[in-house]
Amino acid sequence: MTVVQKIKTNAAKRKITILGSTGSVGQQTIDLIARSPDAYEMVALTANKNVALLVEQAKLLKPAMAVVADESQYASLKDALAGTGIQAAAGAKAVEEAAQADSDWVMSAIVGAAGLPGTLAAARRGATITFANKETLVCAGPLMMKLVAEAGATLLPVDSEHNAIYQVFDFNNPEGIARLILTASGGPFRTTSREDMAKMTAEQAVKHPVWSMGAKISIDSATLMNKALEVIEAHFLFQMPPEQIDVLVHPQSVIHSMVEYRDGSVLAQMGSPDMRTPIGYCLAWPQRMETPVPRLELAKIGSLTFENPDPVKFPALRFAQEAMKKGGTAPAMLSAANEVAVQAFLDKRIGFLDIERINESVLNGSNAAPLTDLEVLREADEAARAQAEELIGK
Ligand code: NDP
Repeated sequence: MTVVQKIKTNAAKRKITILGSTGSVGQQTIDLIARSPDAYEMVALTANKNVALLVEQAKLLKPAMAVVADESQYASLKDALAGTGIQAAAGAKAVEEAAQADSDWVMSAIVGAAGLPGTLAAARRGATITFANKETLVCAGPLMMKLVAEAGATLLPVDSEHNAIYQVFDFNNPEGIARLILTASGGPFRTTSREDMAKMTAEQAVKHPVWSMGAKISIDSATLMNKALEVIEAHFLFQMPPEQIDVLVHPQSVIHSMVEYRDGSVLAQMGSPDMRTPIGYCLAWPQRMETPVPRLELAKIGSLTFENPDPVKFPALRFAQEAMKKGGTAPAMLSAANEVAVQAFLDKRIGFLDIERINESVLNGSNAAPLTDLEVLREADEAARAQAEELIGK
């Protein structure tokens, strides 16, 4: 499989680019790097518009360049970096160029479809890509996997579930695998009634019981759309048919996911719920590194519990199955509609349950086109966003 390949570096120091360095995953990556800065050479850091944090990170780690996607922030970035020798740049194109710059290891941690161009650019030049940005595989899975194979790039999943599966997946004998079991915390509304869910505010929905994450993925966890996107991600990444991917609710988030083999063996990866474990795994891969993650103390936790997801309360998992069945651009349209709906919910323009209503309407209300190239993908993405906006307006 293309995902298992040797990291391409002869350098003593691993050359690093972080796309989305100011986000939750980006900051946790920097937390690890800053603990042993001599082991790394920083090539580029990118943000959307958080210049203050980007500048702080750049002064700490001294990358060759720092980039903001929002062009209106260019002057303040340039001024703040004056005299540091760090090149400042702005615009979506500059973010893509940062991904093209010569680094061994690229952390893809931009949120949403905005992460696609950079991730694809890094894949094209055969880099090792640690991807948090699940939307790339959800939207462009077959195109991305083809590109990775052709360019000899390496994909390392940072999503804790996929990272767990990656650690226990027998790539030499994938035919021995019966199914992947993705665990899910169940989110903040696991025990909330549908009636109460309808009244939930963005502030309540964003409060994840276990993980501390960016706003979009936190809302996705509350609707279980995050798990739906992860099922699609796993389908493309591990090349497993949808019917061999199950979801199991495990509120303690200690078992990060499992692989069941044909002989009945189930291999799981466990750890404290802290993203610095999967990030550290990818940063050191194929070696292992020390992390400050609290050690797992199972006796203190006492018991681990499991339940099946409730398909009536959380229809998102069904959307994932339908999108994979439709194929082509359907997963991208579902993901685009969801991005728009989540933003509208965060902006208080719609209620919590409207997110699923919009996602389902966009998924069912349009035909999926075969995913032949990026232009088809762009058109599908635009159409889904327009349709979602129209539904929000209503
Ligand atoms: P955040 O919202 O915390 O951070 C997003 C990052 O992307 C920020 O650096 C932000 O910049 C940047 N960004 C946002 N929009 C754009 C844009 N249009 N162009 C360029 N850069 C942009 O997200 P998370 O770190 O939570 O998540 C990032 C990705 O990782 C998502 O795909 C998520 O699903 C995935 N993920 C996250 C996990 C987590 O624990 N947080 C766990 C597993 C996966 P700025 O700060 O300037 O806005």
